[in-house]
Amino acid sequence: MERMRFTVRGVVQGVGFRPFVYALAADLALAGHVANTGDGVVGEVEGTPAALARFRTRIATDAPPLAVVESVRTERVPARGGTGFTIRESARGPARTLVSPDVATCDACLAELRDPTDRRFRHPFITCTHCGPRFTIVTGLPYDRAATTMVRFPLCDACAAEYADPTDRRFHAQPIACPDCGPTLRLVRPGRRDAVGEDALAACRAMLAEGAVVAVKGLGGYHLACDATDETAVRALRKRKDRGDKPFAVLAADLDTARGLAEIDADAAELLTGPRRPIVLAHTLGRLAPAVAPGGPDLGVMLPYTPVHHLLLESPGPLVLVCTSGNLSGEPIVTDDAQAFDRLAALADAWLCHDRPIHVPCDDSVVRVVAGAELPYRRSRGYAPFPVPLATPVRPALAVGGDVKNTFCVADGRYAWLSGHVGDMNDVATLTAFDAARAHLERLTGVAPEVLVTDAHPRYQSRAWADRNAAGRPVLRVQHHHAHVASAMAEHGHDGTTPVLGVAFDGTGYGDDGAVWGGEFLLCDYDSYRRVGHLAYVPLPGGDAAVRNPYRMALSHLRAAELDWTGDLPCVAAAGPADLALLSRILDTGTGCVPTSSMGRLYDAVASLAGVRHRVGYEAQAAIELEGAARVGTDDGRYRFALDGGIADAAPVLAAVVDDLRLGTAVSRIAARFHGAVVALVADVATAVRADTGVETVALSGGVFCNELLTTGCADALAARGFRVLRHRRVPPNDAGLALGQLVVAARLAGHQDKEATRCV
Ligand code: ZN
Ligand code: ZN
Ligand code: FE
Repeated sequence: MERMRFTVRGVVQGVGFRPFVYALAADLALAGHVANTGDGVVGEVEGTPAALARFRTRIATDAPPLAVVESVRTERVPARGGTGFTIRESARGPARTLVSPDVATCDACLAELRDPTDRRFRHPFITCTHCGPRFTIVTGLPYDRAATTMVRFPLCDACAAEYADPTDRRFHAQPIACPDCGPTLRLVRPGRRDAVGEDALAACRAMLAEGAVVAVKGLGGYHLACDATDETAVRALRKRKDRGDKPFAVLAADLDTARGLAEIDADAAELLTGPRRPIVLAHTLGRLAPAVAPGGPDLGVMLPYTPVHHLLLESPGPLVLVCTSGNLSGEPIVTDDAQAFDRLAALADAWLCHDRPIHVPCDDSVVRVVAGAELPYRRSRGYAPFPVPLATPVRPALAVGGDVKNTFCVADGRYAWLSGHVGDMNDVATLTAFDAARAHLERLTGVAPEVLVTDAHPRYQSRAWADRNAAGRPVLRVQHHHAHVASAMAEHGHDGTTPVLGVAFDGTGYGDDGAVWGGEFLLCDYDSYRRVGHLAYVPLPGGDAAVRNPYRMALSHLRAAELDWTGDLPCVAAAGPADLALLSRILDTGTGCVPTSSMGRLYDAVASLAGVRHRVGYEAQAAIELEGAARVGTDDGRYRFALDGGIADAAPVLAAVVDDLRLGTAVSRIAARFHGAVVALVADVATAVRADTGVETVALSGGVFCNELLTTGCADALAARGFRVLRHRRVPPNDAGLALGQLVVAARLAGHQDKEATRCV
């Protein structure tokens, strides 16, 4: 007999790892014990050398579905004899292990939920080792019931027996409960008695069917829900939430229902029904109330991921609900019950809530399938706090991200943990939420940052936060687009020593020369970048006003291209005489105009010029609608940028659009030709840079690459010319992915470490 101590690291807590070890030990007739510790899953096994060897292999290869085994360390210890295998109490200690993201209700639980003979028949909080809340209820490590918000629900005898039975699916499943010992579902309606349990569900369904807006407590926060086929109800929600035209996502009862709403291919179906259950963006079939996504070419769809959702989406009652974050526009999602009653008072007609607290907020994730691969727009519930492995070790660091769509990132060694969606840092409540989420993630990961990293923008709130909270630690700055490109390199496992050509297209980022950058070609490694090309500067007339009013960008681009503002052009008509006079003056004098190379703004300009959208109610609306138009048009390569020494002048493109408008060319064709011109520009610049430098890898990053048509167009064109293309699959291309790039640029252990992290050469 021999004895072996083992330590398993990775995502191994909250995923049924100890029961798995227990069963494995029983199978191999091994004696010993196992426990969760701050180091991971740790234990000892004793048996024949052959059995120990098999244990050593199978502990990695046969691990439970939600587990990710990063490493298995073993060492021989003196044999002690003994029989039987035990799961020991968790040992406290410095935490350095990974907590699972929240997981959608599994099939086994769903079957029980629908089985009238099961003791959890229709129990709204059914979970097991393979599913249920994790990240959002964990208050500390090691992961045990005492370190979750379920601590207030002592297990009844029946649940305790399952919890203690190594052969049960709920063996050591921390969040389990049943109708006798678990949380209670409650419908709160102003001026009426609360309804509880089944009555709450029935009353809630009835209210939704009548057009009410109900605040529904989910995994990571409250949603606001209403019948997605009821135009009056959806409009009411839109108005109350001050939402403008920004599309709502919907929660559909099942996959068949979802297929009736949008074009769901096999890859999208897999994401919709998988354990992460993000919102999947797909081309809409336009079957819901128009107010769900006014004018938008896409619909965001998700399927039920909690038992409450499954029970709520039953007939009689709506089978498709608008399901939007419970918050006022711009504020963080509401998680606390008292806050939900207070802050959502003007938005909801009732509250479907329960008494299991949410420890940290976690918004729904948003993804799209692009050419068979996942393209994340927002990486939150189901994904956070799953780490991104790094090819190059970093010192303990916190990168605070950007100011819009903020996420932050903590890292140490070869792991980076990106936070879930935090929000807009210009909102005071968001800053508070940022700090709470940061403290929680640092606690769960055990990272004690020695370095802070921020964007280089002098007026970013995220940067100001880092400066205020540095406490003597160095604060390093990383240029915005360098961070975008580095995030794509990092998620593809680059160690940052070999340069790539980064194509960073977005709306806004602070440039080294004080201009607003956003149409950048950067030759990057992690240490430095060289700006080898960019869109030619045009004035950004009036900052925010130019962003809200794409016609202003159209006029600025026309002026830069020396094209007249004639009344037959849709953008000129949209501006009106007063604004034309004002714009003419500020463009002539340059007052309030910052130069910009933004690709996002060029999309705005072309959208307005083509008559697609002159004023936007939400970010990227004009570009999204231009892409929608382009999907039904064909490109014949007619539009070309003028390229001179890496400077891409859009003037010939603008002139061609004006010509097409006067010829009566269809908007879809104009939109498609414009997309084709941007694709050709990317391929041409890449080819020229390769001729100069030999660089054959191109990274596509920045929010403009949320555009499916552009992303696939660029990837195909580059591949056809023999380039290796890095496009985002794990981290969003928009500013929600910025923090990862900041981190690898500034916190890498190898290489130099200047005070100013980014070097422009
Ligand atoms: Zn389950
Ligand atoms: Zn129970
Ligand atoms: Fe950006």
